Amino acid sequence: IPRDDSLGPESEDWLGVPMIGAAAAIRGAIVVQSYLPDTRYSEEDRAILIYVAQHILTALERKQAKTDLEIRVGERTRELADALVDLQQEVIERQRNERLQRALFRIAECAAAADSMSDFYANVHAIVGDLLNARNFYIALVTEDGKELEFPYSVDEINPLRPRRPLANGMTEYVIGTGRALLADRTRIDELVGSGDVQRFGTRASFWLGVPLICSEKTVGVLAVQSYTADSPFSERDQELLTFVAYHIANGLERKRAQNALVHDNVELEARVNARTRELALANRDLTEQIKERERIEARLTHEAFHDTLTGLPNRALLLQRLGTAMQRFRQYPEQGYAVLFLDLDRFKVVNDSVGHLVGDEMLKQAALRLASASAPFMVARLGGDEFAVLVDSLPNPAVATRVAQRLIDALNDPIRVANKEMFTSASVGIAYADVQYTRAEELLRDADTAMYRAKARGRQCYEIFDENLRAEAMRALDLENDLRHALVRREFEPHFQSIVSLTDGEILGYEALLRWNHPKHGLLLPADFLGVAEEIGCIEQIDWQMFALACEQARNLPDSTYVSINVSARRLRVPNFDEIALRTIEASGLPPRRVRLEVTEGALLDQPEQMRSILLRLRMAGVLVQLDDFGTGYSSLSYLHRFPIHSLKIDRSFIADLAEPGSSPAVVKAIIALAESLDVEVIGEGIETPQQRDALIELGCAIGQGFYYSRPALIANLA
Ligand code: C2E
Ligand code: CA
Ligand code: CA
Repeated sequence: IPRDDSLGPESEDWLGVPMIGAAAAIRGAIVVQSYLPDTRYSEEDRAILIYVAQHILTALERKQAKTDLEIRVGERTRELADALVDLQQEVIERQRNERLQRALFRIAECAAAADSMSDFYANVHAIVGDLLNARNFYIALVTEDGKELEFPYSVDEINPLRPRRPLANGMTEYVIGTGRALLADRTRIDELVGSGDVQRFGTRASFWLGVPLICSEKTVGVLAVQSYTADSPFSERDQELLTFVAYHIANGLERKRAQNALVHDNVELEARVNARTRELALANRDLTEQIKERERIEARLTHEAFHDTLTGLPNRALLLQRLGTAMQRFRQYPEQGYAVLFLDLDRFKVVNDSVGHLVGDEMLKQAALRLASASAPFMVARLGGDEFAVLVDSLPNPAVATRVAQRLIDALNDPIRVANKEMFTSASVGIAYADVQYTRAEELLRDADTAMYRAKARGRQCYEIFDENLRAEAMRALDLENDLRHALVRREFEPHFQSIVSLTDGEILGYEALLRWNHPKHGLLLPADFLGVAEEIGCIEQIDWQMFALACEQARNLPDSTYVSINVSARRLRVPNFDEIALRTIEASGLPPRRVRLEVTEGALLDQPEQMRSILLRLRMAGVLVQLDDFGTGYSSLSYLHRFPIHSLKIDRSFIADLAEPGSSPAVVKAIIALAESLDVEVIGEGIETPQQRDALIELGCAIGQGFYYSRPALIANLA
């Protein structure tokens, strides 16, 4: 075997013993060798070496164990130290987390609790201040329109104010733009400024930390802290923290915004609810108004259905209804009689025709008032026109009805003042008493009406009770209507002439043509007997025209020097072409127009003064003169006289009758005569019955007159 020198030199003798450890593990060997030929190892040496080896091993093992232990202790110590560090870290982490947790709770809490956003921000600041250096702290928000940056909260050692400004490229905008947090020290800031990414705003900070506020994945603003001193940097940790806070702030912000929006919405909603409520209330009020209005209309209609619009009195319908009830009761309890009073204002038609409907209406109203109070407690109704009726109900004795009738008549004794004029009217009353014969309410009215006509005929201003005589007369009156129509056809009307004379010498100047009806059964009837009915049934105009033509024809037989004056009813005069018809009629009669005069009343003139004026003017141009009839009885506003081409005034007979009465004052007649003189109008005195009256008139300066003293109206053939 070739020798391997690397194993050392060749030895003379070699003794080796193993070192056997625990579990018979060979741990090594102890070897001795001799290079001297005389040095040899014995068995004893071997035993000694084994023993030594054993000790060495033990010592070695001991040493090894100690080292091991030391290492292990060291290791353990290190381990423990590491663990401690970890633990410490963990504790810090935990504390931090706890603080963070608390902070977040507080943030969440104050987000919910803060009254206003600014309170909320201040709270957030305080909380952030607990976590990191937040001596300079601001919240920046992008405005709604995305064009500006506002700082709802800012606390700064250097810049006390942080006004709203347009978006530019500051640090804040940088964070907004990137949507990521920016932790910058001076170097980084300068870098950003240098690269043009950022343009500084405000004081240069040593450290700047800004985190985005992200709401619904949109960066709506920035939460920033900055430090102006070099010794208080911000750490990654702070960034983390602030990011975390920002997240919650953003949440809180969003919540707060939502809450605000809700509050706003609520306010708006409330406002809308209020507005709507108001609207509804208004609508409601409108509706209520409308309903009320309707009720009012309904009530008014009901009222109107049973009341007269002009006077407000019950109307015919209501009267008939009540009368029906009274009739029924009377049939059951004959002791409970009743009476119907029919009242008509004397001469009211004249009033109405003469002064016009407005004044007439006013007069009716006032008359109605008086009648209502005079008839109380009984019901007075207006039947239409100037007709009224009173139902004297539950009548214990007939005298009550006549007392009421008298009260009604008395009520109209005093003149009625309308439009500064005093007007006289009076009432004639007809009374119809309950009777088993009556079956319909209208029959009572009819009979009371008939009685009233009798009262009028008797001289007005009195009452008359319907009786059997009247019933018979009424039957005749009923015929009157028919008879009148026949009379026109049969030409039963004829003019009677009454002379108009010069009072001083008795010379006949003219004749007034007066209408007479030569009734085949009743003989000669006066206008008073039938003119009312004629007017009612509307044939008065025809009668008039017939009269007019006849009077003109017959007047041709009167002396050439005389004229004939013909009465013209107001109604007829109002026909627009009256003058034409009149002139044609005159022409047809062959009588020269200058021999015709027309007698008109004041009322007829005043109703349509302009039309009347021109009609009268045209007539006068043709030679027909006009005499104003019944002067003084009407509503003479003397001042109007000059406006009409009037040739003569006929002083009403009532004044003449008074003239010769002892103690009477001729003042009115005097005034009329003076007026006529000043207007250069002729004066005619009517109804002269005695020479005293004639003398009185002459005395006063009236030179013309007519009357029974001179002649009664007579057929032309019978004129003296
Ligand atoms: P009137 O125009 O005032 O006519 C005068 C009335 O006085 C006439 O009554 C006449 O007979 C009456 N009279 C004349 N002298 C005297 C006297 O001395 N004493 C008294 N007590 N009376 C005298 P008459 O004829 O009954 O006519 C009454 C009214 O009828 C007239 O009043 C006139 O308004 C109207 N009338 C007469 N004829 C017509 C006519 O043809 N057409 C129209 N529409 N009405 C007529
Ligand atoms: Ca006359
Ligand atoms: Ca007259």
